[in-house]
Amino acid sequence: MPDFPTAEEMFPPRADADACAAGDDSVRPRRLDDFIGQDELRANLRVYLDAAKERGKALDHTLFYGNPGLGKTTLAQIMAAELGVNLVCTSGPVLERSGDLAAILTNLSRHDLLFVDEIHRMPIVVEEVLYPAMEDFKLDLVIGQGPAARTVKIDIEPFTLVGATTRMGLISSPLRDRFGIVARLEYYEPEDLARIVERTARILGVSISPAGALEIGRRSRGTPRIANRLLRRVRDFALVHGNGEICEEQAAAALQRMDVDTSGLDLMDRKILSVLIEHYDGGPVGVRTLAVACGEEVRTLEDIYEPYLIQCGFLKRTPRGRMATAKAYKHLGLTLR
Ligand code: ADP
Repeated sequence: MPDFPTAEEMFPPRADADACAAGDDSVRPRRLDDFIGQDELRANLRVYLDAAKERGKALDHTLFYGNPGLGKTTLAQIMAAELGVNLVCTSGPVLERSGDLAAILTNLSRHDLLFVDEIHRMPIVVEEVLYPAMEDFKLDLVIGQGPAARTVKIDIEPFTLVGATTRMGLISSPLRDRFGIVARLEYYEPEDLARIVERTARILGVSISPAGALEIGRRSRGTPRIANRLLRRVRDFALVHGNGEICEEQAAAALQRMDVDTSGLDLMDRKILSVLIEHYDGGPVGVRTLAVACGEEVRTLEDIYEPYLIQCGFLKRTPRGRMATAKAYKHLGLTLR
């Protein structure tokens, strides 16, 4: 029997593999009960988590999809905490070679949770390593090169893959089909965002009135990450121009100064709509042309700006291109021709 190197020797653990996204960490909810909004998803997750614990098995592989900042990473962290297992974080673009993923998988402990952010950006060679790992908790390793190359199957510990994506359409169907739980995160209602703002304010030691929190909630594009960011900036204005306490008027005035309007649109949102209306008669115009005219990347336009403009009914995607709606004309104070 030839002496094969161990999986650990072939794929030493990577230092970045267990470094989960930091940044917003101090205000991130830790348990499912602290997670605000997304009621149906939260209730279902509670059942899946309790059932996995009851059965003593790894939770089914889970795919979260939805716009940035809606809570996908937070939910992955909560799931690991609720299950009492380790969370290992990585992301699609970081996994360049199949060995990168094999290294992570072979170092997982029983029932660990592996979070892969932006899973749609994982190269196909890496994705293929995942299929047997997800299905049978096995890795197919090719050892050696050329005619001497051999394939060996090694067992890995049962684990749960939690994938997150902003682009469900870019996930291949073999990968999508291997997730037992697929859940979409929706934009949040202003009232839920207000509760998130109040919770964050408590953690940060900021005093805010319910009406002030709702004002921020209304202008946060349905997104908790934006609500938390706006709260921090409004707090700065309240500190410098007031007594540090945030009321409705102060919140509105500070958001106005930051160019966030009453519908939560910022300068770029309004630029997209006004370019569309003033340069292209309201459309239809192709997304590439629109991106160039606005000085923005197509991906940013499609992933960050358009979903909210569409959700609010300011923009339409048609087969012939993007179009501004009558509501967009009205919002910008322009007349529909
Ligand atoms: P995503 O991974 O979808 O881009 P995150 O999970 O990183 O989003 O969430 C962004 C921030 O928003 C987090 O720091 C967290 O504090 C906050 N957040 C997200 N969802 C919620 C929620 N439901 N309740 C409270 N805070 C939330």
